[in-house]
Amino acid sequence: MSHHVEGVEIADIEAFILNEYIPAKPLDSNLQVDFTIRKQAKSEKCGQRRCGDILKFPFAQTTRTLTAASIKQSKVLVDADKATETKRVVEITLESDDFDYEPGDTIGVLPSNAPAVVEQLLDRLGLIDQADTICQIKLSLKCAKKNAKLPAHIPDSTCPREIFTNCLALNGVLQKQFLSALAGYTSVAKERSFLACLSSKQATEHYNSLILERGLRFMDILELCGSCQPPLAFLVEHLPRLLPRPYSIANSPLETGTQELRIIYSVQSPKAGVTTSMLEAKCQQQEQPAKVFIYPRLTNTFRYTEEDLCKNQILIAVGTGLAPFLGFLAHKEHHQKQQKQPVKGETWLYVGAKTPQAVLKRNKLLAWEQASVLQRLRMCHSRVESPTYVQQLLQDDAEELVKLLLKPDTVLYVCADGAKISTSIASGVGLCLQKVLHLDETEATQQLKELRQQAKYREDLWL
Ligand SMILES: Cc1cc2nc3c(=O)[nH]c(=O)nc-3n(C[C@H](O)[C@H](O)[C@H](O)COP(=O)(O)OP(=O)(O)OC[C@H]3O[C@@H](n4cnc5c(N)ncnc54)[C@H](O)[C@@H]3O)c2cc1C
Repeated sequence: MSHHVEGVEIADIEAFILNEYIPAKPLDSNLQVDFTIRKQAKSEKCGQRRCGDILKFPFAQTTRTLTAASIKQSKVLVDADKATETKRVVEITLESDDFDYEPGDTIGVLPSNAPAVVEQLLDRLGLIDQADTICQIKLSLKCAKKNAKLPAHIPDSTCPREIFTNCLALNGVLQKQFLSALAGYTSVAKERSFLACLSSKQATEHYNSLILERGLRFMDILELCGSCQPPLAFLVEHLPRLLPRPYSIANSPLETGTQELRIIYSVQSPKAGVTTSMLEAKCQQQEQPAKVFIYPRLTNTFRYTEEDLCKNQILIAVGTGLAPFLGFLAHKEHHQKQQKQPVKGETWLYVGAKTPQAVLKRNKLLAWEQASVLQRLRMCHSRVESPTYVQQLLQDDAEELVKLLLKPDTVLYVCADGAKISTSIASGVGLCLQKVLHLDETEATQQLKELRQQAKYREDLWL
């Protein structure tokens, strides 16, 4: 039989089975799931929010807990465009309990796996009848591992639907030992060999191509190997935790009050991620207002506060990376209008986007330039007839840029949705330093390092 999984045609999994291979050591199983006869009510299914204080949320401000925020509004800022590979970008306004924030701060959003995917998984594992039955995860009576632990991200009393919806990541990269264990739960010989071989050192090339490059995930493997039937207890122990995702706040609290905040997300097509798919579905759901669970993350130096009003900023943004700067600029505009505090600092903004239409809130940026919130606005586009990149804009302004950067009160902020872009921008700034200060490459790299140490060069990395 030929399978077509995630746009990948795998004519026959047999083609990936080597003659000789040694499977990786399979992960062992230390847990068991005990079912009760009671069904879990829908209102009880709160996932990781029910796990108590032992469960930590990454970078959470300890004094604050999770908040249910209503999606008050959603707005498409950029339409997807296949020809230029432009992603759809959406802005949502969230309403929640008061929480203090400054422009540039980030929130954690709790994702959930799509109901249709969960249903498909429950069905595939033969768990439909028990999907909502309350169960408890325990250490197995046969558990031989001394330091075996119960996973902290699964509530004490739960049900399979809650586990798969709120607690476990279904699209993580599968490790070789996990694949090897899956082979042990597979009854058809060909499928068993395929999984065992894929886990072996000898088949690393196949592992790299299928798992790392083509991106086959757990659900795809189950589809390819119809007789693979891992027990719930094994998955609870070894599938990774479904982790919150960070998003930058894209407005100023002076615009909206602290009970509201906005975030902007871009949707990868056709393989949208877990959180972005969830947000898309929530924005379209009938029953309104839809709610998402969020928490304030620890703050760092990537923010714009009253103290910065008299400082200079050089802002460099690519794509959705403009989001936090929209907050910076709105904040400055509000202070300028209120005139309670002197606003002496200069703000320069460099923006890169695929096309002019893909620049977030382009008209607003132009208006800020007109109103002298921005002293300099430069935009460039990479998917137009003569493409230009941000680094080039920096080169064009090198003399004045370096002069401004070296003033004691100037901070340069970079935000791009990709580590590679941030590295190219750093090289671009390095080239400006070389050219203007007559440095060689090593000296410029050293100077850049010092600027980072002095917190004059700040990056928000969206990895
Ligand atoms: C400090 C910080 C701030 C951030 N701020 C923002 C922000 O303001 N706006 C924003 O949009 N993002 C921001 N991000 C990134 C954001 O946190 C998420 O990583 C992003 O939205 C994708 O999350 P997801 O859960 O939808 O995707 P995930 O499910 O985590 O998937 C990650 C990527 O893998 C791809 N993928 C999914 N399934 C597969 C598969 N089977 N094979 C191959 N690839 C696959 C998806 O398309 C997706 O692009 C920020 C990140 C950080 C660290």
